[in-house]
Amino acid sequence: MAVVEDEAVIASAVAARLASAGFAVEVAHDGPSGVALVERIQPDLVVLDLMLPGFDGLEVCRRIQAGRRVPVLMLTARDAETDLLVGLAVGADDYLTKPFSPRELVARVHAILRRVETAVLPPVTELRIGAVELQVPSRRVLRDGEEVHLTPTEFELIAFLAAHPGVVFTREQLLAEVWGYRDGSGLRTVDSHIRAVRRKLGNDVVRTVHAVGYALGEGGHG
Ligand code: CA
Repeated sequence: MAVVEDEAVIASAVAARLASAGFAVEVAHDGPSGVALVERIQPDLVVLDLMLPGFDGLEVCRRIQAGRRVPVLMLTARDAETDLLVGLAVGADDYLTKPFSPRELVARVHAILRRVETAVLPPVTELRIGAVELQVPSRRVLRDGEEVHLTPTEFELIAFLAAHPGVVFTREQLLAEVWGYRDGSGLRTVDSHIRAVRRKLGNDVVRTVHAVGYALGEGGHG
């Protein structure tokens, strides 16, 4: 377990409390050494102060999450909603506003670890269609390693098909699932987006199932 907190009194109190709860704890006092500590000890959880010298807790969070997913409990002195939203968006699992009780800290730590342990498979972050790779969180698309620009709708369309390999969808179903249109209008919109995706990613990426619709995978196109 890593504790990254620049206020020495809080850092040692948090570390002592976690140690007495049975965790092995190491402490860092600024952003850069916090990142280094996490890289070195690969902790099960990081207790991370928001306001730190060097760079702040949000930047620490970004850097330590770049390689692998590590649970983060963010400590904040400010109860501003935007801080919390930003903090949770960059990958903090929970937060505590100072001052907090040691009991509350340990309870939150246990709750996060429980969630991590019982989590089902991680959400899909990468989809592959032959030479095409979809990086879902960043919405980047690579073909043979080269980045290809798709519009947001084109991305949604191909990601939806890629998440259901081999399944044939009618244009009506695609309109409902990707565009949210339930009345069947705009079928030609689907065709034009499929054409655009094929032009950008290659004809072999999406297969036309004659008189039915579209699917991903093996087979000719009509
Ligand atoms: Ca601080």
